[in-house]
Amino acid sequence: MRVTEKTLRGAADLADARLIAREKLPDLERVAARYAVAITPTVADLIAPDNPADAIARQFVPDAAELEAHSEERADPIGDAAHAPVEGVVHRYPDRVLLKLTHICATYCRFCFRRETVGAPTALSRRALTDALDYIAGRAEIWEVILSGGDPLVLSDRRLREVASRLAAIPHVKILRVHTRMPVVDPERITPALARALKAGGKATYVVLHANHVRELSAPARDACARLIDAGIPMLSQTVLLRGVNDDAQTLGDLMRAFVECRIKPYYLHHCDLAPGTSHFRTTIREGQDLMRALRGRYSGLCQPAYVLDIPGGYGKSPVGPNYLHEARRPGQHAVEDFLGRCHAYPPA
Ligand SMILES: *Cc1c(COP(=O)(O)O)cnc(C)c1O
Ligand code: SF4
Repeated sequence: MRVTEKTLRGAADLADARLIAREKLPDLERVAARYAVAITPTVADLIAPDNPADAIARQFVPDAAELEAHSEERADPIGDAAHAPVEGVVHRYPDRVLLKLTHICATYCRFCFRRETVGAPTALSRRALTDALDYIAGRAEIWEVILSGGDPLVLSDRRLREVASRLAAIPHVKILRVHTRMPVVDPERITPALARALKAGGKATYVVLHANHVRELSAPARDACARLIDAGIPMLSQTVLLRGVNDDAQTLGDLMRAFVECRIKPYYLHHCDLAPGTSHFRTTIREGQDLMRALRGRYSGLCQPAYVLDIPGGYGKSPVGPNYLHEARRPGQHAVEDFLGRCHAYPPA
């Protein structure tokens, strides 16, 4: 039987579902007043009851630690605002833009990098959408449009089909990419009709799934991904490195293998951004690099994501994974490190 039939919103709902202890209600009501809270029935079922350390609970159940802001944290950690030419568009790199159609998500992650903006019930208006599409149509260098948010798949098939076909009508836009958590948090949302809507217009559509722990890839979630992939939509993954959720090599390796088993190519492992009240989730970059070293060689090359950091201030993502190439003592000569940490000379060019 399901823990709940409806999405849980707010601290009282969570206490009723036994996902938080009653004595924590006052603190967690303050958290919920500050940051959006929602947990779908599917996610509630994944949470081990009465265990705040559970890897799924930690990601979605609010925690009083979120009220502790630190001076290095920022309301806009990746600097979206510095690159927003028109409402709904973030244009940071020359050849691709983010198009944010909604601020809503089906389930809210406690470490969300856009936690200061998600949850607002305002979708992009018709007028603003037309302005955003005009912006894209007017710039021939834009090769790819990434639907982000919020979770774009909270929108109706009709709306998504309209956006996909209007983008398809722009000749220089070749790729439509969708960033979503929906196959994990509400697998039933992923229908053949949705897949058709995302492919409307016939451009190459990619879906990038955000998931952080192997238990998120439940049987229904795997089936949901298969429906997209079988409909001709290749899938990639993105994972946020999170203390207490996936910050050990076995857990991370199991997740990457599960993605590959689902025909999802691991794409990014994100260093946790400096969003307010998320310091309890952040590892050091050094720890992230050590985890990447542990994956390399011990897990298939298919299981290797790129470890990236979004530079605060809006400068974009840079790879921050370990470096295997060192200067050797002889000038010009390199030393290349293998997956067991042994160094080997490589001749100068
Ligand atoms: C992350 C991001 C992208 C996508 O970057 P890729 O490296 O292509 O995955 C594009 N635009 C903005 C503004 C982003 O933040
Ligand atoms: S799905 Fe993405 S945008 Fe939505 S709460 Fe989670 S991290 Fe934030």
